[in-house]
Amino acid sequence: MVKLAEWRGKEIFRKYGIALPPGHVARSADEAASLVSQGTVPLPCVIKAQVLAGGRGKGGAVRFASTIDEVRAGVNAILGLDFKGEKVKEILLEGKVAIDRELYVSVTLDRTLRLPVLLTSARGGVEIESVPDEAILRQPIHPFAGLAQYEKRRAIASLGLSGGPAKSLGPLLDSVWATFNGEDAELVEINPLAVVGDRVIALDAKVIIEDDATFRHPEYSEVRDDRTPLEEIAREKEIAFVQLDGNIGVIANGAGLTMATLDALMQFGGRPGVFLDLGGTDDPAKVAEAFLLMAKAKPTAVFLNIFGGVTRCDTVAKGLVSAMEQIPAEDRFPLVARIRGNNEAEGTAILRAAGIISIPDLKSSAEAAVRAAAARAISPGGPAA
Ligand code: GDP
Ligand code: MN
Repeated sequence: MVKLAEWRGKEIFRKYGIALPPGHVARSADEAASLVSQGTVPLPCVIKAQVLAGGRGKGGAVRFASTIDEVRAGVNAILGLDFKGEKVKEILLEGKVAIDRELYVSVTLDRTLRLPVLLTSARGGVEIESVPDEAILRQPIHPFAGLAQYEKRRAIASLGLSGGPAKSLGPLLDSVWATFNGEDAELVEINPLAVVGDRVIALDAKVIIEDDATFRHPEYSEVRDDRTPLEEIAREKEIAFVQLDGNIGVIANGAGLTMATLDALMQFGGRPGVFLDLGGTDDPAKVAEAFLLMAKAKPTAVFLNIFGGVTRCDTVAKGLVSAMEQIPAEDRFPLVARIRGNNEAEGTAILRAAGIISIPDLKSSAEAAVRAAAARAISPGGPAA
């Protein structure tokens, strides 16, 4: 899922002819002040934190300013803020518009219907999850035929629009649909779409690009804002690596076994902190590389659960032992292993020679990993959980 920040979404909107307030992204108070003094952004203006989480309006991450001093103060108040766990590094500065009404418009994929749907609601400006179903019009859209005239008329009627705003809504809906298709999106959402006199203007933009289409969009390869720095490195090295909230590292192979391993840990009260899916490889160097990346996440303990198939047990054991030797003593962690399957005896012997015992039973090994993490978390020298 490639979730785009608001300003990137609006850059796309501009391309598809969706009306926007004049605005620009900035990364410092100086930059913001010069955007205003050069006239790129008019006063009064809106200062908006560029984070992926919603609810910025309520959460103090959207501010208004009428003077350059207020712009500086507003930007300084928002930049560096921790908004729902996300650090604010960019802000969007936009001319403030006088809103008559706030509407909701989106096109998204309904996976049950297997169709795109157009959602419209007269109750815009609040999170759509809090709007009752009966206040939202949902129209499935034929993926090839696109938006029909009658579907647009229904949307306009449901929004209670007439006159100028009604006239501008038709082309707006066409543009939203074109954005959804042209950008391979799974969501294009405008909330609020503001009625301003005779016009409708997009005040917010949420665009999510469909994961399976990212190969068609190299322009977003740098924009995976949802990846951690380590996940970013992993992606470049083509290692399947995901960071979670806990402290135990998990190494497994295949999505199914990886999920089962996480479940086993949780069953004994363990909290997985990062998992690595070795997939199919018969190269010990590749295993070592992946393992060293996991070490950088500083797990309290690591649970290795491998079923040897294409990835043979001895390949994993060799990679693991060579990686362990490269980790500085102070960064080492207890390792609990369970390796079964192809070349199990060879793999087990390699591990044993390095002082690592393989526990064949899944439950016992998961429990041992949880205990190892707990013991280290409370020992004076160990890291906090
Ligand atoms: P979100 O809360 O994260 O979805 O952020 P939004 O971009 O939707 O902004 C939140 C709210 O700020 C909107 O619903 C508007 O009420 C208000 N807002 C944003 N831009 C403007 C503007 O140009 N003029 C006015 N009057 N209000 C604005
Ligand atoms: Mn919004």
